Amino acid sequence: MPELPEVETVRRGLESHVVGRTIESVHIGRERSVRRVGREAVIHGLTGAKVMAARRRGKYLLLDLDTGDLVMIHLRMSGRVLVEPIGAPRPPHTHVVCRLSERNGQHHEMWFVDPRTFGEVVVCESDDVSQVLPELDRLGPDPIVDDFSGEVLKDRLNGRRGAIKPLLLNQHVVAGIGNIYADEVLHRVRLRWNRTVDSLSTKTINALATAITEILTEAIERGGSTLEDTQYVDIDGKSGSFQDMHRVYGREGLGCLTCGKTTIRREMVAGRSTSYCPRCQK
Ligand SMILES: [Zn+2]
Repeated sequence: MPELPEVETVRRGLESHVVGRTIESVHIGRERSVRRVGREAVIHGLTGAKVMAARRRGKYLLLDLDTGDLVMIHLRMSGRVLVEPIGAPRPPHTHVVCRLSERNGQHHEMWFVDPRTFGEVVVCESDDVSQVLPELDRLGPDPIVDDFSGEVLKDRLNGRRGAIKPLLLNQHVVAGIGNIYADEVLHRVRLRWNRTVDSLSTKTINALATAITEILTEAIERGGSTLEDTQYVDIDGKSGSFQDMHRVYGREGLGCLTCGKTTIRREMVAGRSTSYCPRCQK
């Protein structure tokens, strides 16, 4: 599933390829991709509108239109946003097609492709955002977009109980972290996934906040992580390369690159996999 670095990479692609262009026409294949507001609202909201900015909060992509409307795109499990020349063969599961105004003599389409159809494209008036997209108001701080520090993280963890990993995955605590980056962050600070939050010192929480910012930034620089079981690619169809830097995620059974003394273990916890080094992470 695309996490903050992958979604940020797509946002940067939208910024360079789509911002400043007008959406001339819209075609929607599968209604499920626009289930929240429906086909007519998406076609009506997008057609003739110019894209003014591409923003991101956590895993949510947000496009501001010159009409005052907001577009929200969530990739969920397998969504992709691609910009291709008009006439290029569309991949299977292309559910939303937006024809973009010409730029430098080039004509392009923006595609929303989503084999598993958990992803969404939503268009709403800016006055209705809280009503249509209530989850945006409940998101925790985005470690890249917002001010983020050990103090902020400590504040977000205050009053919460239980193991640290599910809290890192909780989008109300911190926005944008999923399974890959939670495992990598916990390895960098040498914490086992099930360490309880009340056992963490202020120093450890500070180190955790630093590792979150560092790892997400490093992953963005490498265009995110593309794994065999995911279809994540950037807007030009290019894979990320941060998977080559993973120390635990996807490395079960391989030697730990940090201690060199044991192999990475993978456990299933509440239906999700967790990869860690039993020697480095306590
Ligand atoms: Zn180790």
